[in-house]
Amino acid sequence: MARLRSAVVPEGHSIHRLAARHAELFAGDKVHAASPQGRFAEGAARLSGTVLESTEAYGKHLLHHYAGELTLHVHLGLYGKVTDGDGAPPEPVGQIRLRLASDRHWLDLRGPTACELLDPPEVRALRERLGPDPLRADADPARAYARIVRSSTALAALLLDQSVVAGTGLIFVTEALFRAGLPPTLPGRQLTAAAWRDLWVDLVELMTLAVAHGRIDTVRPAHLPEATGRAPRVDRHGGEVYVYRRPGQPCHVCGTEVRRGTLAGRNLYWCPTCQR
Ligand SMILES: [Zn+2]
Repeated sequence: MARLRSAVVPEGHSIHRLAARHAELFAGDKVHAASPQGRFAEGAARLSGTVLESTEAYGKHLLHHYAGELTLHVHLGLYGKVTDGDGAPPEPVGQIRLRLASDRHWLDLRGPTACELLDPPEVRALRERLGPDPLRADADPARAYARIVRSSTALAALLLDQSVVAGTGLIFVTEALFRAGLPPTLPGRQLTAAAWRDLWVDLVELMTLAVAHGRIDTVRPAHLPEATGRAPRVDRHGGEVYVYRRPGQPCHVCGTEVRRGTLAGRNLYWCPTCQR
């Protein structure tokens, strides 16, 4: 049960890292595709022998674009996992939905929520149902603000809604709201345009750092253990955070106990003093 409880949908930065990694491994190469488990046998047969032209991430969705306008769409969901390696692939172990291999590298995909082939109109439809992704150069934050400012829903819930902003999960949302000094329950329509601009810029910065480091760090230098002498965070996710999963512990800025509440079935964490 502990494993189930601690499962977390990967946030957008890890999908952007996968997209970059997969381009590094296969872009420009013909790939051999198979579905050792069988559930993607037909799709793998269509993919096999085609050239991977490019990859991209859109929020938490991973796209491989193959020659012939064929796109592989993967959403890892809660349990999806990708592994890769050099040389010849190992003997298949477990439920491998998709295995890709070139002469030099291999990749295994297990347990995704989505693994499917899309044609160009379906790729467009997927993009259209997602909000702007702070990690994409083509993102238009005004689109998200138009949704937020029309809504009385709590800001945290809006930012977790992938049709409002794509790629942000609980850690980025919780931490960005702390850094902005905004309560997670603030109704969307009370967010000013200036506050949204700052929040967006901060999300871009935090998520870009996370892509570079492969983990989420949100604590400003002045509040790090090295600066304040406090003990570093102990958590298998690594990284220093202000409030995420720190209920009952003192706020790194003001010392107030970090609170936990629930919103639409998800845990929320905030400092009642810093986020009034
Ligand atoms: Zn505080």
